[in-house]
Amino acid sequence: MLSDGQFALLLFGVVVIVRRWHFYRYVRPYMPVFVVAGCVHYLYSGKIEHGIGYDVLCEELSILDSVNAWFVTFSPIIAFDIRAVIKDLVVLVGVYHLCNYCTQVYNWVREMVPMGLHHFIKYCTDIAYEAIKEFPVVQDKVDEEKTKFIATIDADIKSKARVIDGGSMNYELPQTGMDQSHVLNIMKSCTQKEDEIWEKGKVSGGIYHGDRDHINFLNEAFNQYSISNPLHTDIWPSMLKYESEIISMTASLVNGGHESVCGCTTSGGTESIILAIKAHRDYYRRKANITAPEMIACTSAHAAVDKACELLNIKLIKVPMRPKTYEIDVQRVVEAITCNTVLIYSSAPSFPQGVIDPITELGAIASYYEVGLHVDGCLGGFVLPFAKRLGYDIPDFDFGVKGVTSMSLDTHKYGYALKGTSVVLYRNSNYRAAQYFLYPEWPGGFYTTATLAGSRSGGMIAQTWASMVTVGMDGYMEYARGIMDTAKIIAKGIEDTMPELLCIGGTHAMVVCIAGNPDVRVKGEVVNIHSIGDAMSKKGWSLNSLQLPASVHLCCTVRHIGRHDLFLRELRECLDEQKRLMMEVDPMDRRLHGNAAVYGLASSMPPGPVKELLTTYNNCMMDKL
Ligand SMILES: *Cc1c(COP(=O)(O)O)cnc(C)c1O
Repeated sequence: MLSDGQFALLLFGVVVIVRRWHFYRYVRPYMPVFVVAGCVHYLYSGKIEHGIGYDVLCEELSILDSVNAWFVTFSPIIAFDIRAVIKDLVVLVGVYHLCNYCTQVYNWVREMVPMGLHHFIKYCTDIAYEAIKEFPVVQDKVDEEKTKFIATIDADIKSKARVIDGGSMNYELPQTGMDQSHVLNIMKSCTQKEDEIWEKGKVSGGIYHGDRDHINFLNEAFNQYSISNPLHTDIWPSMLKYESEIISMTASLVNGGHESVCGCTTSGGTESIILAIKAHRDYYRRKANITAPEMIACTSAHAAVDKACELLNIKLIKVPMRPKTYEIDVQRVVEAITCNTVLIYSSAPSFPQGVIDPITELGAIASYYEVGLHVDGCLGGFVLPFAKRLGYDIPDFDFGVKGVTSMSLDTHKYGYALKGTSVVLYRNSNYRAAQYFLYPEWPGGFYTTATLAGSRSGGMIAQTWASMVTVGMDGYMEYARGIMDTAKIIAKGIEDTMPELLCIGGTHAMVVCIAGNPDVRVKGEVVNIHSIGDAMSKKGWSLNSLQLPASVHLCCTVRHIGRHDLFLRELRECLDEQKRLMMEVDPMDRRLHGNAAVYGLASSMPPGPVKELLTTYNNCMMDKL
């Protein structure tokens, strides 16, 4: 017979191993049955022999003696020693918690190791920073950086907002209301200048269509429903038509022939992603009794995933990209699956490098392990389906792939609608049902919403529908062709004529991601791509700055169709200028500015102080000018 010590050790081993096994998720729903069976067996077959720790506990629990005496005297039915039972239970609970803590430590080590040394050092420096951040020297240094940062934001952005309406500020309500015409004049004078910036077609992403006629038409459609609220279907039944058609039209692009695909409209990509993740969390809680959900995403996944997991209390396991292709590392995904996994998250394409993850491989894994698979098509959802039909080399990415359980597609990006709408789709209505919020006992009446919002703007839905039905299949095809070609021409131009730069991640989609080429150096140095990005912004281009690895990207939109030569010419000018600087000026004498300085500084810092700068940024954006 085993002693308690041996028994505990054995139990610990079994729990550590079994909890890693995916198989455990099938056992778990029956755990209560096992527990009851165990208790019954325990009560009717005598107790376990006691070993280590038992005597100590007996001393500690001597107060139970009187309780026990009472039981023994007055309870002829319970013919066992209640004191001993409680002590056994205490031992078991202790062992259980020990097992839990140990598996946590084990999991933590297991996750840290593959993330590599760089990640580990960042992690350690962050702990160190947390420990010393209250020291005056550190505080002074951080404050100094903050002050510099605030000054930069002030000069670059806030100063431009401060001059509006002759510099007059409204920090309290104006006593008598302003003239409507005055307000409109203020706004018109602002937007006239602001529209010039993006109308030149030099902004990466941001404006996806931007033709005046299209915008005016969408505004008109919005106007018709500007006061409507789809929560009140009794007043605006026409909303039902628009909303259900937006969902069906979107689904028809990606359903892979599965009629069961369904979905709903949301306020944007982030909400679609939060809802898809919530749906999987709740679906698997019901189906497999998973109460400590985990999901797996690539480091290239959109930040909305991290936000969703923070909000929904889901443990997010990040896996790296494959080094050359920048796709999610599928092998790492398999290793990360546990009994608590509810969802694998993939992108088609990813935001940073515009890479389409290997959805078919992931789908096979997801269906084998019976976990969900989300395809983030927020960016590409209204380009890839058309590009595929046009014959571009696009791997399978939609519900036609076995294992895909949900997708998100932004109508407010390449659907060419105004900002504030997106669509989330599910393989069948069981997943969608897990997304809903239901509250039948509210004193305010039966309450249910399909999405996060309560009241919503019907105008947003109306203009989205208007955009989709007026652009039509031919329109979307035409735009997709122009956009894909533009991206490919730009990528080829860089490859052929700018050896110091490198397009990373290929161009399967409409994103051109550019980094310094480590194999073609100037005086032994790799070109600083953020400096090139800064030089481009002096020429009016607004490219996205990326990190890990350092790069910038141009997300091609309708605005860029026909502007590839302009982009290539100006990029070459910036590169030549940068090369000249690198040849002539010693690295020590070269001061970094703008984004190059910000990302240069941040890459050498642990996350803690960078977070403080990001908080500062948010404060600056909302505090008084
Ligand atoms: C834009 C984007 C999102 C998030 O969408 P928002 O509309 O900004 O909330 C998610 N994933 C990808 C790949 C995106 O490009």
